[in-house]
Amino acid sequence: MKNYIIKCTGIFLLLGHLMGHGQTRESLDELSSAYAKTSFPMLRELLNIPNDAFYPTAIEDNVQWCEKAFQKRGFSNTRISTSTAPLLLAERKHPGAQQTVLVYLQVDGQPVDSTRWFQESPYIPVLKKPLPDGSWEALPWDDIANYEDNWRVFARSASDAKGPIAMFLTALDAAANSDIVPNYNLKVIMDFEEELGSPQLPRAVKEHSDLLKADMLIIFDGPRHITNKPTLTFGARGISTITLTTYGPVVPQHSGHFGNYAPNPALRLSKLLASMKDDVGRVIIPGFYDGVSIDPATASILKAVPDDEAQIKDRLQIKTADSVGRYYQEAIQYPSLNIRGMQSGWIDEKVRTIIPGWARAELDVRLVLETDPNRLINLVKEHVASEGYLVLDREPTKEERLAHDKIATFTHEISYQSFRTSFDSPVGIWLRSALTKAFGESPIMIRMSGGSIPISPFVTTLDIPAVTVPTVNRDNNQHSPNENLRLGNYREGIKTMLAILGEELN
Ligand SMILES: [Zn+2]
Repeated sequence: MKNYIIKCTGIFLLLGHLMGHGQTRESLDELSSAYAKTSFPMLRELLNIPNDAFYPTAIEDNVQWCEKAFQKRGFSNTRISTSTAPLLLAERKHPGAQQTVLVYLQVDGQPVDSTRWFQESPYIPVLKKPLPDGSWEALPWDDIANYEDNWRVFARSASDAKGPIAMFLTALDAAANSDIVPNYNLKVIMDFEEELGSPQLPRAVKEHSDLLKADMLIIFDGPRHITNKPTLTFGARGISTITLTTYGPVVPQHSGHFGNYAPNPALRLSKLLASMKDDVGRVIIPGFYDGVSIDPATASILKAVPDDEAQIKDRLQIKTADSVGRYYQEAIQYPSLNIRGMQSGWIDEKVRTIIPGWARAELDVRLVLETDPNRLINLVKEHVASEGYLVLDREPTKEERLAHDKIATFTHEISYQSFRTSFDSPVGIWLRSALTKAFGESPIMIRMSGGSIPISPFVTTLDIPAVTVPTVNRDNNQHSPNENLRLGNYREGIKTMLAILGEELN
């Protein structure tokens, strides 16, 4: 027990009687509040840098910003070059540390359509406060000094995921200025192509596994549970995609001249897709769900998540959910087969009276640990063949068109596999303890999130367990115009990360 004097830009806080490694709920609250305020210029500066990974020069600006930010905080940087954007590894050792924690941060952001943002630019952050009618009022940036928790900063990547980067840097500053030294070493891996699906990551992790070697991985990304309570997520589904095309006449034909005569590819594709699922949304291709079973212990974990299904349905405006699982958490423990887009001919103002030449569906298959992605993809492919199709991985030739009634082009890509970490793993126990101390109650523990993050290369190649620590508000419009970050979440995110930095790892 001792007293600490904590200095932060002119404010001196005297915090008495800190426990153990120097952290109490009260001290974490005071530190995170004070340091959140001093960090806003840094948050603003970071959000000011365009970060669409389609533009390599913009990405280079982000890489350099991160290099400076971590160097300033005592880290040594290594650029891991790839054929496109580099990955950045920042490393800091601490005295007496036995273990190493690898932290994953995402720096790039989704593309922007500036015309749909209610502000000058998605890269010029705007402070806004909510009005009673649900609209937002823009405030002068300097008002942020006296922010309220429900005010928000609107900018691309405010939540996904530069906000968490600023939180982490701020937590490092708060820790450094108040003698909180992690009892583990830190490695921070920064990904600049996450929104492109991290195409270089699996190979880079394989080639640099020595450099990235760690005992566990934590990921500062994603939104908390919809209740906005502290959350830990122990897994995520993987993702693969299929492109499926069916064919009609070689070029579109007049529907008057050839209707009733030339077969329609859109109808064929519709029937083919419809043959894959029943009326309650379950895949009926035999074997698709093989290997996944929810035992009573798992069911109790899933049911402990405080989902309000009526609220979810109300938000989605759907009457009845698909019946793959009996409730939301159970549904996302299974692989999914989803039509993410379809195209044939033209619609709306471009509609015309034709029989289209082709029809295409883009599918995504979300993966779980129990299901081998190649097996799932092959099941779908074999199903297409079993419906009488000649299945090709390219466009058909004239000879093939003349010789076969039904032809489909089927191509696929497996992006990355799922990961899942046990609640009782050392990383799970450690993080749960840190968050429980910080917030006075156990966090919401989610077995697996439905969406995908490119973490499996770390988990499988480095053979380490991974847990996601989400911090941002769920209604943040990520990937859409008017992305935002709730400032209460920003402050609590700093507090969460500070608690983790101070939590002893045994
Ligand atoms: Zn994203």
